[in-house]
Amino acid sequence: MATKSNVKQTKSPEKAVEAQQSAQKEAQKEAQTTVVEVGDFVTVRELAKLMGRSPIDLIKVLMQFGIMAPIDQRLDHDTAAIVGEELGVEVRWPEPEVEEEEAEEAAAAEEKAAAMPKTFIQKVLEQEDPAKLVERPPVVAILGHVDHGKTTLLDQIRHTNVVATEAGGITQHTGAYQVEVDGRKITFLDTPGHEAFTAMRARGAQVTDIVVLVVAADDGVMPQTREAISHAKAAGVPIIVAINKIDKPNANIDRVMEELSKEGLTPEEWGGDTIMVPVSALKGIGIEDLLENILVVAELEQLKANPNGKCVGTVIEAKLDRFRGVTATLLVQNGTLKRGDAIVVGTTWGRIKAMFDYQGKPIKKAGPSTPVVVLGLQEIPKAGEVFEVVKNDKEARRIAEERKEAEKAKARVPQRRMSLEDLFAKVEGGEVTTLNIIVRADVQGTLEPVVQSLERLSGDEVKLKILQAAIGDITESDVMLAEASDAIIIGFNVGVEKSAQRRAEQSGVEIRRYKVIYKMIEDIEAALKGMLEPVYEESILGHAEVREVFRVRRTGAVAGCMVLDGVIRRNAKARLLRDGEEVANTVIETLKRFTEDVSEVRAGYECGIKLANVTDYQIGDIIEAYEMVEVR
Ligand code: GDP
Repeated sequence: MATKSNVKQTKSPEKAVEAQQSAQKEAQKEAQTTVVEVGDFVTVRELAKLMGRSPIDLIKVLMQFGIMAPIDQRLDHDTAAIVGEELGVEVRWPEPEVEEEEAEEAAAAEEKAAAMPKTFIQKVLEQEDPAKLVERPPVVAILGHVDHGKTTLLDQIRHTNVVATEAGGITQHTGAYQVEVDGRKITFLDTPGHEAFTAMRARGAQVTDIVVLVVAADDGVMPQTREAISHAKAAGVPIIVAINKIDKPNANIDRVMEELSKEGLTPEEWGGDTIMVPVSALKGIGIEDLLENILVVAELEQLKANPNGKCVGTVIEAKLDRFRGVTATLLVQNGTLKRGDAIVVGTTWGRIKAMFDYQGKPIKKAGPSTPVVVLGLQEIPKAGEVFEVVKNDKEARRIAEERKEAEKAKARVPQRRMSLEDLFAKVEGGEVTTLNIIVRADVQGTLEPVVQSLERLSGDEVKLKILQAAIGDITESDVMLAEASDAIIIGFNVGVEKSAQRRAEQSGVEIRRYKVIYKMIEDIEAALKGMLEPVYEESILGHAEVREVFRVRRTGAVAGCMVLDGVIRRNAKARLLRDGEEVANTVIETLKRFTEDVSEVRAGYECGIKLANVTDYQIGDIIEAYEMVEVR
């Protein structure tokens, strides 16, 4: 701490008038700092604030040096140092924050690992003896904007690196293939695009080790490029960029790099850590370089598995073949899959009757990272479902049946994933520390302030993490990303695509739509404090018409009705309408079919209804039953 000798100590205890102001001055001095850190530039206002002085003091000093500086004038470091010297404040360069940065990075990596729920496969791998783990080939997915050349790249890699065999099915699509580069293997997932990538993740699978992001050099970063980046980042998978179509005359590699830097992917050449390889998928330029870089990243990632361990993996795709029955492409992720093995896949099972490699060549066994096509499953499994080898057929069938039962039970209870309403409870219960958010807005001008406000709401207790911020309607792929990352979706002045709506309803992903920012902020703040009130909306169950009125001595009157539409339920809320006017708003107290109490009566049936606190019914009255449902 260097205190300069020329700090002015202006205390004159003799003067009574000064004594009166002493408290004030004391407070001022307290706020005054003796050392401040200033970078290349600082405004007068900022510097005054740092020093705990009035900007006027600073402007006066500058004037002494003949500098007429308005309050928002930028001063360079040296000028700031001179001003400081006059005011008795040392102006220093900021400490290099190397160690801090490193510590932060490590903490961030740790946090990321903790935030990512472990998949079944990861748990299996954790059980393995580390000494038995051996290196396995990387599994690569190709993502990018439409028409940027994903399919062409996959074809080019396949054709230049796969040795055609007699079985020869190199044009056959099986969902995955393998190539060999310098004696090392790479597995490619053959269905490009982030929808397929995230659909698998939404089923709890994590098969991709490395993402190759294809960006056309003549087109640059486009909406789906951004989406692909968010999907890959949300999955925590490293990205290699293939800058494609460099053969085109209007290709501009630098521009693509610049645009990618804005998305948080800075090329290595510019001091960043993203590998970017210029290629032409069409002409086959740069492909070897790309493949070699994939191997470099794979090396860094230390991808390992135990070929002799418990055999597990994931379904890449499956279909019903007219001649062969169910065929499924499986990716082995640990252990070795053998012909004759009994496996459980999701809610189905089977015994591996036959097994082929991606070229259609019959094989007897397959180790980690190998894609295989198998025959023998009872039903068609879903892509992204996990398989495991079990003792025998009997065991496989038993587990599959148990799962089917469990699934049925689960389907009866609507699933709830992350929602703003239960956020607080989840935080209190220690279940979550991060709220993942996907944002959609109609225009860039809205998106930016929304993202900024959300970032400002992020706190120590609950972090708000924006997985994706994009323009346009909410898509099914957004919902999948939300499923895969336990996120909520916030929409600003945007619609929801039908398929997205359907999927969100099925999977319980929360979509919140807003028109004004302050309302969104209010909701999130309330949610963070556990004070978000659920919003209810009326939903009409059905209508019944009064056809007869029975007087019952003890209970008053009962209305003999015909249910016109929907359903009438006992205990449901109901209003009594007479000539379209509401005459009572109450609940259905008793509901009878003939003499029997029933819980509900559907359209087309007669019933007896008694409403609570209603004694007077007239023929022609309408009873409207409704319920309040929580709006999500
Ligand atoms: P995808 O939608 O990302 O799978 O893109 P495609 O692989 O279908 O490619 C879209 C179009 O771009 C096709 O007409 C390709 O022939 C063309 N294309 C792909 N890669 C290149 C390339 O490196 N150079 C040129 N000139 N055209 C390419």
